[in-house]
Amino acid sequence: MKHIKIALIPGDGIGPEVIAEGVKVLKAIEKMDSDISFSFTTFPYGCEYYLENGRMMDEDGIEKLKEFDAIYLGAVGYPGVPDHISLRDLLLRIRKEFDQYVNLRPISLLNPSLTPLKSRTEEDIDMLVIRENSEGEYAGAGDWLFPGKPEEVVLQTGVFSRKGTERIIRYAYEEARKSNRSLTSISKGNALNYSMVFWDSVFEEVGKEYPDVKTFSYLVDAASLYFVSNPERFEVVVTSNLFGDIVTDIGAAITGGLGFATGANINPEKAFPSMFEPVHGSAPDIAGKGIANPIAVIWSVSQMLDFFGESNWGKAVLTTIKDLLREKDYHTKEIGGSASTRQVGNRFVEKLIKSMSP
Ligand code: ATP
Ligand code: MG
Repeated sequence: MKHIKIALIPGDGIGPEVIAEGVKVLKAIEKMDSDISFSFTTFPYGCEYYLENGRMMDEDGIEKLKEFDAIYLGAVGYPGVPDHISLRDLLLRIRKEFDQYVNLRPISLLNPSLTPLKSRTEEDIDMLVIRENSEGEYAGAGDWLFPGKPEEVVLQTGVFSRKGTERIIRYAYEEARKSNRSLTSISKGNALNYSMVFWDSVFEEVGKEYPDVKTFSYLVDAASLYFVSNPERFEVVVTSNLFGDIVTDIGAAITGGLGFATGANINPEKAFPSMFEPVHGSAPDIAGKGIANPIAVIWSVSQMLDFFGESNWGKAVLTTIKDLLREKDYHTKEIGGSASTRQVGNRFVEKLIKSMSP
């Protein structure tokens, strides 16, 4: 019997609305599979919590969360609470404290109708972007060049340690080998003459241990172009924190938008909890209306199950998402439908149960 202890952080805006549907899916799976069980503990962390308490989570929030196997997060952000507080003190803090150094972002076209690109199929757009999640350009290192004259010149430094660079690149090679796919590194060695030259050399060095993995190396500008013009070139992709942030948004755009973008923040060694979340934010413009698309957060369930070795369930969830998207009646508003968040969630569960019953 496998038991997975899940800390729920529904968060702000549409977060709680979509998370409720993801939890429904997990509970349905628990019912169908006597070998898996989940427990859920909800934490009210987020911007509302901040407005009441002056901080994003309990003082010992990290200690509390440490007890769990996984964190399942809806969204954080609230008009009136600056992003740098809500992000820094909750999301980024969790990623850092739990050394979730791998950001796994599947970019897959779930239904051909969702892409704005011309005549592209599910086969053309199907990649896994592995983004470095702990250092790089987002290390927060920098300074004013002339103290006392902060407005004159500022420095923002990327931090690329050998340990940090090697472990993400190695993770990516392992993933490519395991799934028998090619590996593309995205960098910018021709302009960032320290960090990206280093990145490229580590990519090459580690690659010597993986002669069976076919590799490609692209500059980030060219890669951005190919994401749109030739997405079929990419299978497994590894890149730095900043570049990963940017190219995965291009990925979201070519696969149907934020309602279809999920991301896992992984500590592969399982020394600390990993965190599963949709890529979208709290969407204050549609919050409370019950019309948010829950597909991203349901896809997170698939990632979670894969991570805990339940890849049969991970696959079943993804297949059911694709199945469901063939039913126009269950499309949410942002893709031209009129289904509510709850209708999509309920229909999903119905279809999953049906597909799994003998
Ligand atoms: P935050 O400050 O929390 O990041 P935001 O408004 O800046 O919120 P998002 O929440 O990502 O950023 O929203 C960007 C746009 O995408 C909004 O118009 C929103 O309505 C839309 N959107 C985001 N997520 C979804 C979803 N799950 N379903 C439908 N529309 C969504
Ligand atoms: Mg935002």
